[in-house]
Formats: sequence, structure tokens, C-alpha cells
Amino acid sequence: MFKRRLFTPGPTPVPEQVMLRMAEPMIHHRSPEFQKMFERVNNNLQYLFQTTQPVLTLTSSGTGGVEASFVSLFSPGDTVVSVNGGKFGERWVKMPRTFGLNAVEIKLEWGQAPQPSHIQKALKEHPEAKAVYLTHSETSTGTATDVETLSKVIREHSNALVCVDGITAVGAHEFRFDQWGIDVCVTGSQKGLMIPPGLAFVALSQRAIAAMETATLPKFYFDLRKALQTYKKNDTPWTPAVSLIVGVDAALEIIRSEGIENIWKRHERMAHAIRAGITALGLKLFSECPSHAVTPIWIPSGIEWTMFNQILKTKYGITVAGGQDQYAGKIFRISHLGYYDELDAISVIAGIERALHECNWKFQAGAGVKAVQEIFQMESPSSR
Ligand SMILES: *Cc1c(COP(=O)(O)O)cnc(C)c1O
Repeated sequence: MFKRRLFTPGPTPVPEQVMLRMAEPMIHHRSPEFQKMFERVNNNLQYLFQTTQPVLTLTSSGTGGVEASFVSLFSPGDTVVSVNGGKFGERWVKMPRTFGLNAVEIKLEWGQAPQPSHIQKALKEHPEAKAVYLTHSETSTGTATDVETLSKVIREHSNALVCVDGITAVGAHEFRFDQWGIDVCVTGSQKGLMIPPGLAFVALSQRAIAAMETATLPKFYFDLRKALQTYKKNDTPWTPAVSLIVGVDAALEIIRSEGIENIWKRHERMAHAIRAGITALGLKLFSECPSHAVTPIWIPSGIEWTMFNQILKTKYGITVAGGQDQYAGKIFRISHLGYYDELDAISVIAGIERALHECNWKFQAGAGVKAVQEIFQMESPSSR
């Protein structure tokens, strides 16, 4: 027998009831049945993003959603400021340059989060900036950005649009699109939404919608004006990934019944417990400002990553993520984004203990699991 356990920051595990819904017979997208479902999805997406503004659903991975924002909001030569603190931030520097935008890079060490001073300096040097792109949870480094504070800073010092890559943050970190004055936020289906890859979601403020009217970068498929027009009729401009929309309908039902605030709290508690478990085993955490979605961990000297990972995967069925770029072989990442509960945290730490032991790492057996249990006990006291 072999049981798979996925602990990667996308794709993430899909709840059984969501998979069953996606297995139902196909429906046509130009039908009242689809439109009724899509209307419900659109309403529940507004709840997820905490907004009364439109949240558009695109058939693409998350990167496509961000590309749609660049081509739909800007014109050649426009300046955008992008925070690059890891693999995804780096993408939001490269991508606008590909389209002939002037991307001003705020380059950070991996594992650091941008501070108000970084943003203020960039906006002072580039008062012409049309937007600032922030990555709420930088998945490559497991680092969280204080989007609420930075959004205030951007709005106080400029007219730039506040654009957020929320791809591993939405559904894990507190996020309030309207209240925080966000203009664009993108997420993807295979992350906090707990469904397979293939959909991107883009929330747009009225300021962002106004910017779309004058933007001249060429686009066709990823034209958010087209998506917005059809959205108003609970329709899509092109054939959507119908089965994934069925899946997201089911997933949003689960999200609504748990309640978004409880979901944020659960992710925070999970992240806290995983960090405690890892530290108790004598391993070191990588990020200065840890994300609630994914925990990056230094691979200690003496542990060979390939072997450790192989044991985790083949003996215990556990898939974690490795490090990217200069951190390949140096860090690994445990995701706790989406469909996870307390016992999942215990089991992944137990699996890590087994693999560490087989790699001759010295620690008290059960020390990691004990630390995880203690966090959960502390945070949910006995009811008697
Ligand atoms: C996964 C991820 C992306 C990329 O999304 P794709 O769905 O792979 O295109 C972008 N940003 C962050 C922060 C991510 O975690």
C-alpha cells in the first residue's frame, strides 16, 4: 500500500467532495445552468477577496492572470514598480519588460519582506509610476509582505495602482481588497482554492477598471475589458475550463461554510505549529517574516537533500517542495496552504522525523510532533 501526501504550495490537495463534483457529466457553458453556477461562483469569489468589486475568472494558471493585468491596464513605456524578493517577484519584473513597460525593480534579499521605506524611495524616484506590484506571500522564500501597510504608503505617496500577487496568500492570510484600498489582486485555482491548476482570478477596483479604458498595450485573449463585459452577464468571453468552475463552486461552498476569518486563523495556527515542530528537531527556519502558506527550512549540513527527499517521497509518500535557483539543495519548503487540518501537520512532521532519522540526524524521537501538539493544545484549551 502506498498513500500519497502532497505538501507543495501548488498544486495543493483537492477535497474529495470537490473531486466528486468535477466528475459529474459535462455541462455546456452557454446555458442557464452554467450561468446560475457562475453567478454563485462570482458572488463567493467576492467574499473570498472581501470585495464588492468584480472578480474575473480566467482560464489560465495564475501567471496568466498577472499577465492579463499588465496588458489590460498599461500602455507602452508606462512605469511600474515591482518588488523582487524571490522567484515570483522576479517574474513581475521580467514580464512587464517583455511588454515594453519600464519596470523599476525593488530588489531584496530572498527571505526579506519589503518595508515602507523601500516603497517610498521608489515612488520618490519615479513619481510617474502607474502601479506598484507586491507579492503578498512570496512562495519561493515563504515570506509574507504587510500588504495592508504598504497599500497605505502607496496611496499616501502616489496615484499608483496597488497590484497584488495574492496567489499563495488569498485564503491563507488576512486579505481585505476593499478595506485595504487594493486595485488589482490575482490568485490561482491550485493554491488556497484547493482545486486543480487551470484558473486565475483577478479582482479589479474602479480605478483599475478606469485605467483599462485608456491602456493601449496589445492583447486579445487576456483582454480584461472583454472578461468584464461578459462577467456582468455571468458569462465568459471564451470557453472556460467548465469542470474547474464546477470545482471552484464546490470549493467556495466549503470556504463559505468554514468562514474566511476562521480559514485565516487555521492557516496561521498551522504555520505556527509547523515552525515549532521544525525548530524542535534542531532545524533552522529560512524566512525573517514567515508566510502562513508555506514554511521554508534550511537543509542542515550533513543532510543530503536528494536522499532526504527520496526517503520522504518513496517511503512516506510525502511530497514537499525544494528550494529554487540559488537555494536549490539548500532549503526545502513544507506547504500548509488549503485543505489541511491539525493531524496533517502532525503527520508531515512525523514523516520528516522518520526521514531525518534515516539520514542520521540526531534528535529526540517525537520532539517535533510534541512541539506541534503543544502549539495546538495551547491554542485550543481543553473544553472541560
Ligand atoms: C504559484 C505562484 C504563481 C504562479 O502561478 P502559476 O499558477 O504557476 O502560473 C505566482 N505567484 C505566486 C506567489 C505563486 O505562489
